[in-house]
Amino acid sequence: MPKRKRSSTAEKEVGQRRRLTPIKIATLFSRLRAWATSLGHVPIVDLMSAQGDAPWQILVATMLSSRTKDETTAAAVRRLFAVADDPIKTLTVPTKRLEKLIFPVGFYQVKAARLHDLARLIIERHGGQVPRTFGELIALPGIGVKTATLVQIRAFGIAEICVDTHVHRITNLLGIVHTRRPEETREALKQVVPKRYWRSVNQYLVTLGQIICKPKKHYCDRCPISDLCPAAFEPHYSKCACTSLRMKG
Ligand code: SF4
Repeated sequence: MPKRKRSSTAEKEVGQRRRLTPIKIATLFSRLRAWATSLGHVPIVDLMSAQGDAPWQILVATMLSSRTKDETTAAAVRRLFAVADDPIKTLTVPTKRLEKLIFPVGFYQVKAARLHDLARLIIERHGGQVPRTFGELIALPGIGVKTATLVQIRAFGIAEICVDTHVHRITNLLGIVHTRRPEETREALKQVVPKRYWRSVNQYLVTLGQIICKPKKHYCDRCPISDLCPAAFEPHYSKCACTSLRMKG
């Protein structure tokens, strides 16, 4: 049986709800900040950033944290930095020992080898100092767009937005942006999110994506921004740019 089309008025109403005004976007991020603070948990790399740890340590922790639980990353960096906390010392530690120090972070063998490459190149190209520009960071081995942006934010306090799958998925779900790829999302977010929230967008939305707005299950009844979210009004809404955003009734 062919699907019944929405009336143009209903389409218009949904469109209105999906369009968040600048005031609502500011309210949304202010709400997320209060919620994230109330949880009392700060991811290890954000904690290190707040403590003013060295850029090398923040770069290493960011790299190790990929596909790894926060507690595991925290314990691994403690063990590693007790032995080698800068590029020169890192180069003196054999790769096998590095593997043992960072185990069980995800892909620890690959990451241990990468630590050596990173340390060597940072010494050769940048005199032992972690570079701060996106172009220089991304030219380093194993550093992708996400890690380079996070290092700019966390190590140097640069106002940037780091987009990962949670940020891309949830900002589309919320109707803040309408994009198909994460690379488009970063630029689109910069047009609408107040600059004071840029550096925290990733932290807030990753936290929300991990415990409330999970990829396969949304706990809208517990969500701190449900009154601002079009998906909470329209559980059957299926016109999101990304098909993975579709919700089952
Ligand atoms: S209200 Fe539901 S769908 Fe919207 S952000 Fe919150 S959990 Fe996700």
